[in-house]
Amino acid sequence: MDIVYSSTKENRNSDPEAVYERAYAKINLCLDVTGKRPDGYHDLRMIMQTVDLYDELEIRIGKKEAEQGKITLIMKELPEGADLGPVEKNLIWRAARLFLDEYHLKTSVIITLTKRIPVAAGLAGGSSDAAAAIRGLNRLLAIGASEEEMCALGVKIGADVPYCIRGGTMLAEGIGEVLSPLPNPPSCYLLLAKPPVDVSTGYVYDHLRLDDPSSHPDVDRCIEALVNQDLAKLASNLGNILETVTEKEYSVITVMKSLMKEAGAAGTLMSGSGPTVFGLFENIDNARYAKQLLEERGLSTRNFVTGFV
Ligand code: ATP
Repeated sequence: MDIVYSSTKENRNSDPEAVYERAYAKINLCLDVTGKRPDGYHDLRMIMQTVDLYDELEIRIGKKEAEQGKITLIMKELPEGADLGPVEKNLIWRAARLFLDEYHLKTSVIITLTKRIPVAAGLAGGSSDAAAAIRGLNRLLAIGASEEEMCALGVKIGADVPYCIRGGTMLAEGIGEVLSPLPNPPSCYLLLAKPPVDVSTGYVYDHLRLDDPSSHPDVDRCIEALVNQDLAKLASNLGNILETVTEKEYSVITVMKSLMKEAGAAGTLMSGSGPTVFGLFENIDNARYAKQLLEERGLSTRNFVTGFV
């Protein structure tokens, strides 16, 4: 078996016969839906951004001869009430199954997930876990698949998985799988805050109306702001058409955005189909103050002051 040492400092003393992958969360700096396809999928135009909040996957080869091809998934630090469903539906398990089948491998693997990204939050936690499983297995088993090959596998799990395999700042088009790199955003602090409400992505898309021109964000102006490294312009052009549905349903989102702005956020937005709200801050003390206010008022239960990756 190949022995793969982790590249990250904190993992250096861990099991040397394992690989470790970080599965980073994402936010959308801009999200527009440009149409609906006959197959029911939506055409999207969105700016994806990796943020410094991540799940960790440890992937090892199982040693028992009798368990060839078996995928064991162990969960750690699962937040209270988080439901990742039955193991065969878990996106990590599905990604690992797909990878082993694609390369005709009978290896059994043990994957341990440390879950930190809030579940069903609009932060692509599940897609990012699936992407990390594909990247990790590719390293552990020394398959040598290219990024393109991993993305082609990942899209079979979900439209966001190719982005999560690549990460960074990207314009995502098509159903989210057509990716073009963009400049990193100007430096700032980020407050991520998830209120304790459950949003169904299906419900949001089913109730979305595309015929009102004023609900569509200006993705091109957001791109210009990235190119010019202009934080004020970026902050004033953040936009997400899905807010028109989710925010109407959950007024806590509006309250959280106002509170972040009062505390000094340059701009605020809901990520994905929600309900996570983020604020961009020039000053970290303002971001921490906003987090404290959200917690004191019981508006959001999972809050992180962090930044972009
Ligand atoms: P997106 O931003 O891509 O819409 P999300 O952040 O809203 O995603 P996820 O946390 O990815 O949502 O979870 C979506 C669903 O996927 C949940 O219902 C969850 O049960 C299921 N799921 C399956 N596997 C995972 C996983 N490894 N991590 C999180 N959720 C998972």
